[in-house]
Amino acid sequence: MAAIDGLPPLREVIAIHGLSAKKSLGQNFLLDLNLTAKIARQAGDLTGMDVLEVGPGPGGLTRGLLAEGARKVLAVEKDARCLPALAEIADAYPGRLEVIEGDALEVDALAHLTPPIAICANLPYNVGTELLVRWLTPATWPPVWDSLTLMFQKEVAERIVAQPGSKAYGRLAVLAQWRCDVQIAMHLPPEAFTPPPKVSSAVVHLRALPKPRFEADAKVLERVVAAAFNQRRKMLRASLKALSPEIEDHLNAVGIPPTERAERVSVEGFCALARQLA
Ligand code: SAM
Repeated sequence: MAAIDGLPPLREVIAIHGLSAKKSLGQNFLLDLNLTAKIARQAGDLTGMDVLEVGPGPGGLTRGLLAEGARKVLAVEKDARCLPALAEIADAYPGRLEVIEGDALEVDALAHLTPPIAICANLPYNVGTELLVRWLTPATWPPVWDSLTLMFQKEVAERIVAQPGSKAYGRLAVLAQWRCDVQIAMHLPPEAFTPPPKVSSAVVHLRALPKPRFEADAKVLERVVAAAFNQRRKMLRASLKALSPEIEDHLNAVGIPPTERAERVSVEGFCALARQLA
């Protein structure tokens, strides 16, 4: 039976185009169109928005994004075997789907889109964190995108939303929460994917704030946070020593005990320290 968009069910698409999943490309496909529509809805109202999707694969989420009203979807896919299936979707939604065959780490896809822009993807796990860090560290803020709605391994999702004092709290949490509202929007068990991965997954929604939550120079903050969490078990006076010989004075000046460990310092605390060191 054809789906709501008149296209074949995804199991058929996969069979017709011979899309056996490749582990090297992180291919764990979503074949339930109700689920992909639900994920697309986590991105908010897509009407009038351009959407960047990384790794469309056979196009389940792509179809969800188009059905939910995206003005245009630009999909970057590394696996050429998926292109015929994506071309069929483009035919069903004339003028609304553009596909770039390539590596998302090498293509400057955002330059092809017009704001307002949402980024939504069931990311290949091997490149997911690197893409997230790039999207979170543009040359200027606010970024060109309004929101990121991204599937990650549950453990990575938890690192993004982690609060100080927890094991998952680290560089990713500070980077994300400094300039975005973040939340886990959905949890997905391995069985939601074909083939099922070894771990559970979660969709994280990040909305860019118009300006950073606390003032700080991005480069200085990044240096402080990287040094602090690089040796997260050490006291800050030791892990940050290389940043300044007077690090104890600087920590005291912003009210952080020099004996404190990185995982207990709030985003606000790291920003205060970055301002002090700038
Ligand atoms: N979006 C599809 C879905 O939800 O069913 C597929 C998701 S699958 C987890 C990841 C997809 O990303 C695969 O289609 C894979 O070929 C693609 N991919 C892997 N590495 C990539 C890269 N560096 N750039 C672009 N696409 C990539």
